[in-house]
Amino acid sequence: MISEAEAHSKILKTIQPLPARRTLLLSALGCFAAEDHFARLPLPNFDNSAMDGYAVVASSCRKGERLLVTGEQPAGPDRQLRISPGEAVRIFTGAPMPAGADAVVMQEDVIRDREEIVLNVDVDPGEFIRKRGCDLSEGQKILSKGERIRAATLALFASQGFSDLAVGAAVSVAIVSSGDELMKVGEQLKSGQVYESNSALLQALLKSCGAIVKSAEHSRDDRELLIETIERGLKNHVLIISGGVSVGEHDLVQSTLRSLGAKIDVWRVAIKPGKPFLFGRIGDCFVFGLPGNPVSAFVTFLQFVRPAILKMMGAANLDLPMGPAKLIADLTNDSDRPHYVRGKLEDGKFTPVGRQESHALFGLSQSNALLRVAVGESLKAGEIVNLQLWD
Ligand code: AMP
Ligand code: MG
Repeated sequence: MISEAEAHSKILKTIQPLPARRTLLLSALGCFAAEDHFARLPLPNFDNSAMDGYAVVASSCRKGERLLVTGEQPAGPDRQLRISPGEAVRIFTGAPMPAGADAVVMQEDVIRDREEIVLNVDVDPGEFIRKRGCDLSEGQKILSKGERIRAATLALFASQGFSDLAVGAAVSVAIVSSGDELMKVGEQLKSGQVYESNSALLQALLKSCGAIVKSAEHSRDDRELLIETIERGLKNHVLIISGGVSVGEHDLVQSTLRSLGAKIDVWRVAIKPGKPFLFGRIGDCFVFGLPGNPVSAFVTFLQFVRPAILKMMGAANLDLPMGPAKLIADLTNDSDRPHYVRGKLEDGKFTPVGRQESHALFGLSQSNALLRVAVGESLKAGEIVNLQLWD
């Protein structure tokens, strides 16, 4: 058995980012930037009105003053209008400012009287003008290498006129769930059988990382079948096998992988739940063996598989988001492995939920955060703890 830190570092030393590619803007959602990106346009790109109203020269504007309306500038092509003190131009949100104007008066603050307006307010220079470059300067960095591309990032890139960008690779993954007792959802359960649920869990977790699930197959605990199923999965960047990685007579995964020429780098890690975790590779395919118990599969995925996949995709930050919370119950870890306690974070408070056992899927389904309790650690109710937030 090796430590969690050792397993982590072995995996992340072995795994490297895959080659980057260019992709169309809309296909980049959830990917990671493969290089630093810089603004080629300032935002806004020209001085424009923040309101529907009138462009004016502030020095000629006092409450009660009358101004002559000399033109109209809607959003769109710049009509190259110009005003002098005592004049106003009817203007609309997003429209370019006329030359000579240094403020906008909201239409609610004037009374329109044919070709004139009467001001109901004093006006200060700069009011209701969105100045060129006030949001973003030309040349400013807009995204760093390794940052995730989100909805607002796409909008920012579109605002720059970029139609494509360089991103990290798409990682393809095959899932194999192994076990004679597993039955496909939708089929009739016989005595002793359970529905196969890990592939649903893993597909959802992989999707939230941005990986592409190419296949999810089941194999019985039969060496020939396992070999065939594993061989099909090896065409992908990553193969995840759940179940059968422990030491019982029906746990055939490790010996089968070895018979296929696998180099096993990690097997059995000091982590609770999740001890029988395995990491290795066959050719170019990285293989993760996760314990079959659903909570163990969940915890080992988050601690070991997620960072590996993010690294392959070119992410800079491989850690789960963390956040502080007030612990609601005393917790002690008497075991010989760090314990990932499942619980619910609500209103800044963390409450352990359900049975803290590796098969207890309902408890997991009620939780939204993990608390790592180190070996021998005793935490008291009321303490502030740092949680892994995965929801
Ligand atoms: P194993 O790791 O194969 O020894 O399985 C440990 C426990 O997890 C057993 O109770 C299995 O029935 C259960 N299990 C294994 N694989 C799955 C799966 N894909 N879905 C649900 N339960 C599973
Ligand atoms: Mg099994």
